[in-house]
Amino acid sequence: MTSPSKTFCILPWVHLSTRPDGQMRVCCTANASSVGVTNDKIGGGNVGILKDEEGLPNNLNVSDFVSSWNSKYMKNVRKQMLAGEEPPSCRKCYEEERAGHNSKRMWETRYWKERVDLDKLLTETTVDGEVPPQLAYIDLRFGTKCQLACIMCSPHDSSGWIKEWQNIYPTIENKNVKEIWQWDNKGSINGSSYNWHKQNPVFWKQFYEQIPHMKQLYFAGGESLIIEEHYEILEECIRQDYAKDMEIRYNSNGVEWREDLFELWKHFKIVRFHYSVDSIHEMNEYIRYPSKWTRTEEVFHILDTQTSDNVEITVACAVNALNIYYIPDFIKWKLAQNFKKINMWPFGAGGINCHFVYWPAFLNVKILPNWFKDGCEKKYEEFIVWWTANWELGIPTWHKGKVTKEEWIEASYGINRLKGMISFMKSDDWSIRLPEMKDYLEKTDLYRGNDFYKTFPEMKDIFNE
Ligand code: SF4
Repeated sequence: MTSPSKTFCILPWVHLSTRPDGQMRVCCTANASSVGVTNDKIGGGNVGILKDEEGLPNNLNVSDFVSSWNSKYMKNVRKQMLAGEEPPSCRKCYEEERAGHNSKRMWETRYWKERVDLDKLLTETTVDGEVPPQLAYIDLRFGTKCQLACIMCSPHDSSGWIKEWQNIYPTIENKNVKEIWQWDNKGSINGSSYNWHKQNPVFWKQFYEQIPHMKQLYFAGGESLIIEEHYEILEECIRQDYAKDMEIRYNSNGVEWREDLFELWKHFKIVRFHYSVDSIHEMNEYIRYPSKWTRTEEVFHILDTQTSDNVEITVACAVNALNIYYIPDFIKWKLAQNFKKINMWPFGAGGINCHFVYWPAFLNVKILPNWFKDGCEKKYEEFIVWWTANWELGIPTWHKGKVTKEEWIEASYGINRLKGMISFMKSDDWSIRLPEMKDYLEKTDLYRGNDFYKTFPEMKDIFNE
């Protein structure tokens, strides 16, 4: 079925997303929609986060997800989409599309239209925007337990950041960084808590009632592979015999996991594992601090050779101001590994999968100075010539002969993705934020004993006038 309007996205009809503190949002990227060139919070603060009747951010400590599903906030998003308007929570998607990028709205809508009965869902939608609570897809984040303190993260999403933040934050001088990177009240807003899932029988009851409708469970935070509740859910889905019809999806740092994980995965219809790696060698160690590249490489090979055929592995690269210049090097590295199953065609056209970092705003690719953006563009153009000549490196044996070079060139996630990334980066000039990035990186380096200027030598002049 065709979409009912030009601004329609299927997610508000099939999906809810949680934050690690139990806040609920329209989807995982919706609340990045207020990030902009200044800290003015376009569309209002906490955009994309569901609100209660008083307009306070909703969370699973003070509310439940079945009633939140048809909250005034969700109903408004649906009504606006049906009327062809752009809800403020979704600005990020519409802007990426205008820059020629394939947005989450586009790929999720395409994906879910094939898996749910959209006609039925729209017929069941009331004029007020209510939809029966039968979620096909949920994004679950049980707190912030994580071993890493990635450069674009914070204690809001990783417990690995708490000690670092306590030491680094007081040394920050730039007032915008202070504001963006605050962790007031230890991140608690309107009663939210990183332990929202503990002692919460209402949540667990409603969640297991939804399981028969659920087609996909998405685990993306803190670090699911070290969170016990994640394993309990897998075991329960297997026990109730739903696993065989279910997809599970991860964004994970893959540092460690319970030893029976690969066995549990065998019971599910499909496992989509997006391995979070953002660059190669010491650049990845700097960004995904304090991970070690030797372990990252080792995990790549374990995932490639020891997981069952129902497990799909892709690289989830979070594109930010630090790594955009080096993405071609990352793709070249990946193509040289001769992996059997990692990110093979059609995924990333055989390269890697990329999504943008919006928060913190001072690491967004748009903040880079124009001369550096031009340098990135030139590097990408040269790389595209090389990759086009070597396109078959990312085609697995089982696809050989089934995809033509023309199809590869046209694929949305290959060279078109790279071109879209450059045009997105150049679509706005946020270089006014460069002093924020400088202050943040220098203070973090001082505490960690790292050196941005040495690790990313081609970027050493970006803060000069
Ligand atoms: S339009 Fe984008 S931000 Fe809005 S719900 Fe869909 S995917 Fe999420």
